Amino acid sequence: MNKYQVDENGNYGKFGGSYIPEVLYQNFKELEEQYLAIIQDEQFQKEFNQLLRDYVGRPSPLYFAQRLSDIVGAKVYLKREDLNHTGAHKINNTIGQILMAKKMGKRRIIAETGAGQHGVATATVCALMGMECSVYMGETDVKRQFLNVQKMRMLGAEVVAVTSGNKTLKDATNEAFREWCNHPQDTFYIIGSVVGPHPYPDMVARFQSVISEEIKKQLLEQEGRENPDYLIACVGGGSNAAGTFYHYLDNEEVKLIEAEAAGLGVDTNMTAATITIGTEGVLHGSRTLLMQTEDGQIIEPYSISAGLDYPGVGPMHAHLATIGRAQVVAITDDEALAAAFELTRTEGIIPAIESSHALAALHKFDFKKDDVIVLTVSGRGDKDMPTYIDRFVQE
Ligand SMILES: *Cc1c(COP(=O)(O)O)cnc(C)c1O
Repeated sequence: MNKYQVDENGNYGKFGGSYIPEVLYQNFKELEEQYLAIIQDEQFQKEFNQLLRDYVGRPSPLYFAQRLSDIVGAKVYLKREDLNHTGAHKINNTIGQILMAKKMGKRRIIAETGAGQHGVATATVCALMGMECSVYMGETDVKRQFLNVQKMRMLGAEVVAVTSGNKTLKDATNEAFREWCNHPQDTFYIIGSVVGPHPYPDMVARFQSVISEEIKKQLLEQEGRENPDYLIACVGGGSNAAGTFYHYLDNEEVKLIEAEAAGLGVDTNMTAATITIGTEGVLHGSRTLLMQTEDGQIIEPYSISAGLDYPGVGPMHAHLATIGRAQVVAITDDEALAAAFELTRTEGIIPAIESSHALAALHKFDFKKDDVIVLTVSGRGDKDMPTYIDRFVQE
């Protein structure tokens, strides 16, 4: 236990906690009492690690990017989560949670999704385990994300189009919670990031912590030391960042940089820079930083990247930023696009537009020549080709 991790009450400093409806009390009590023992169980670990290796394709490579390093003026290593099965880090978490659901005797899975990435990762593991799956998705997103919707259906999941509110991620999450309240007995809710009521943020961070576990070994092999000078990751809810930082949190020599989405700019109202402009409040069951009006109405976020387009952030990140353990930089749409093209042309890697926010952060700091930076490429850019093609046409 340390000051950067969750405490026994489910808090990260003044953030976190568990704000849940009465009908789910028993579910959370059960999960909270069992999750640590289940994760630490030898049989669970064996099954989890085997699937990460043989199904996901882990360990993901740690790649020294020579040409990118020359441009940045420091040593840049890329942690290649883009090479995972289904194309991003999200599968690490959905595998962990579906194994958890099985151990707890649940037979039906629900999940929320925005762009559909978490929905696809959940539908994938449900197909793998032969579990029933319903994915809640705002109607607006259903229309925008045709390919992911069809993938989920092909995988055997039911996609429920949510028509309340703005018909996007926040509304889909509300609806998934509502559905859970109606079926607390047999249903397990697989949350897609380090958000939601305790113990979800901690549970998801633990499943994603395989990222930093691998970085330590790989960097020692390649660089002769476990510790980089900097870790950089993009932050939507914050799960790939939590995984990247996890085993380094205590080690204060390792500086942590989080890139969030500025959208058109933090001082426009078209932004998703939650940590930069957010204030304290409760969203989806935990106390964190939120984009809200003075009377507590959620401000609809905007980012070019669907995966970063969330009005809250995981309580761990609200805490790390508030106490100064992590530095936060807000990256605009244009900066992210430029970084996507830069990586593509220097290294032959087309990154997800979310990951491109982390890449753009490489130009926001004065690094020294010998600095070792590990940056997590959270996903691949296939899903973002329409966005990138738009940019081409303008050029
Ligand atoms: C979903 C997603 C993100 C944002 O989620 P986090 O929980 O903040 O990691 C980032 N990158 C990719 C590729 C994603 O699919």
